[in-house]
Parts: sequence; C-alpha cells; structure tokens
Amino acid sequence: MNAQSTDTIPTPAPVTVIGLGNMGSALAAALLDRGHPTTVWNRSPEKAKPLADRGAHVAATPAEAVAASNLVLACVLDYDALRTVLDPTADAGGLAGKSLVNLTSGSPEQADAMAGWAAAHGADYLDGGIMTTPPGVGNPEMMFLYSGSEAVLTSHRPVLAALGDPLYLGARPGLASLYDSALLGLMWATFTGWLHGAAVVSADGPPATDFTRVALRWLTGAVSGFMTTYAPQVDAGHYPGDDATVDVQIATIDHLVHAARARGVDTSLPELLKATMERAAAAGHGQDSYASVIEVLRAPTTP
Ligand code: NAP
Repeated sequence: MNAQSTDTIPTPAPVTVIGLGNMGSALAAALLDRGHPTTVWNRSPEKAKPLADRGAHVAATPAEAVAASNLVLACVLDYDALRTVLDPTADAGGLAGKSLVNLTSGSPEQADAMAGWAAAHGADYLDGGIMTTPPGVGNPEMMFLYSGSEAVLTSHRPVLAALGDPLYLGARPGLASLYDSALLGLMWATFTGWLHGAAVVSADGPPATDFTRVALRWLTGAVSGFMTTYAPQVDAGHYPGDDATVDVQIATIDHLVHAARARGVDTSLPELLKATMERAAAAGHGQDSYASVIEVLRAPTTP
C-alpha cells in the first residue's frame, strides 16, 4: 500500500476571484498556475475567456462565485464597485462563513468600514495591498500587504503565497491601505527625484541608463542606510545633527537648483524640497538632522 505520496502532497485549495481586470486576471492566472481549482466572475464576462481556456470555472453570478469556495478574493476598481457586486449576495446570506480577502485599492477608512460590513454579513475579512503590477503577480519577491483577520491569512497562507510574499501588518483592517498609500507616495517621490536627476545629467550627455546605475548604488548603498539611522530619531523625536544638518542641506540643494536652471530643467521639485527644509530650519531645526523635517510635515501650514 502506498499511502505516503497522497499524505505528503497537499491538494491545492479551491479559490474564487471576483473582478477580472488587469490585476484580477493576473491573480486568477497565478492561482491556476499553482493548480488551485479557481472559480472566476467578472461584470464583463468576455474577460473570463482566457482563464476558462486555462481551466477556470466561470460563474454566472457573483452569488455562484462566492458559493464555490470558502476563500473569496475580490479585486475590482474601487469600493463602490465592490459593494455593487457583493451586496445582493451578502444580503441573501451568501457570505456567511466565507473568508473575504479584499485586494481592491482604497483608503484605510474604507477598509475599516468594509471589515465592519463583512462582519455584519458573517464573513471573516482580510484587507490586502498589492505592491506590484500584474506581471509581478506570482513572484515570491513581491510583497502583498495584509491586515485584518490573521486567522484568514493563517488558514489560507498557501493560496495567498501563490500570489506573492504575504506580509501581515496587524489586526486593524485599514493598515494595509495605510502602508500601501505611504509606499506609493515614496515610490512617486523617488521616481520624480530620479527622473529630475536624469534630466539634469542627460542634459550634459550621459544617458539615463548610465545615471541610473549610479543612482541605484546611491539609493541601496547609502540612502537606505540614512533612512535606517533616521527612523529611530523620528520615533524618539530627537534629531542629533551629527552627520549632516538641515542648514547644510539647504546650502547644498542650491547647487541642484542652479544646475537644473542652467540646463533649462524644471526647478519646482528642488525648490519645493528647499522650502520644506527652510520651514524646518525656521522652526528651530537648522542644526538638527534631516529627520527633523518630519516635524513640519506633521504640522503643515494651511495654504
Ligand atoms: P482594471 O483593469 O481597470 O479592472 C477593473 C475591474 O473592476 C474590472 O474587473 C471591472 O469590470 C471592475 N469594475 C469596475 N467598475 C465596476 C462596477 N461598477 N461593477 C462591477 N465591476 C466593476 O483595474 P486593475 O488594474 O485590475 O485594478 C483593480 C484593483 O487593483 C484596483 O483597485 C487597483 O487600484 C488595484 N491595483 C492594481 C494594480 C495594477 O498594477 N493594475 C496594482 C495594485 C493594485 P469590467 O471588466 O466589467 O469593466
């Protein structure tokens, strides 16, 4: 008798995906790749065809999709769309006992409210933030942020790990959205600073690809270290200016403003950064570290 092989190979759990836009389709495809019996539903049914060709079961209604699996992943445009899709099923009791993992983007407050809505309909709720684009889904290096019911993450971890690396942030449902928004802000600020630098450097000849090789070494080798040094200063509210003071950085950013202007490159980004540093200096942080700039970000002046 050969019981060993059947004992050691877990059967991929069934899962439902609601919403088959670019992201929802990528989620369903990653689940099919891992052999999960996958039921899908989308408002526009034609988007289910490529997934059906790969073995997905296409539900005719959201209620049928929800009924097919204990784990229901939702990824539609926004929370209004999500409620439009799920309200009739929830009102009919169809969500009771289900684990709802909401990967739709929204505000922290919307996630908190959605968790209350799910609880009122008998569902366990986990909110998620997808920190990649569709081509990155299924890559274990990519972060999927989660908050809300830890029990949902624990019991469905093998399924959720098929999408990316699950990172649990805490029980408050809105935490994943909060981190998601903050991390996107970091991405846009970094993108814009990088593109500004590329515009300045490439004006004198070196292409963006050359600049980017050096920029990446700067970001990963030095800037990430400064952030690690400054984070405890932010938490302590104490900013010893023993490396580089705000006053020194104000003087230094003038060189960037000058270099950009001399090459016909927009100066609004460094001017904005300089103005923010000057507000920190005016508030008494001129001799403190750059981490002290958080004090003016926490107490913005009204426009
Ligand atoms: P998308 O390609 O525009 O797809 C939107 C999805 O929402 C479609 O399934 C669409 O259905 C559905 N939808 C829109 N309004 C609806 C309504 N009133 N009722 C029912 N369904 C409705 O967007 P996406 O890129 O997949 O993004 C989906 C979510 O993932 C968004 O919250 C987005 O912020 C988030 N996200 C996306 C990315 C990314 O790189 N794309 C990354 C992280 C997070 P139809 O097909 O019928 O229009």
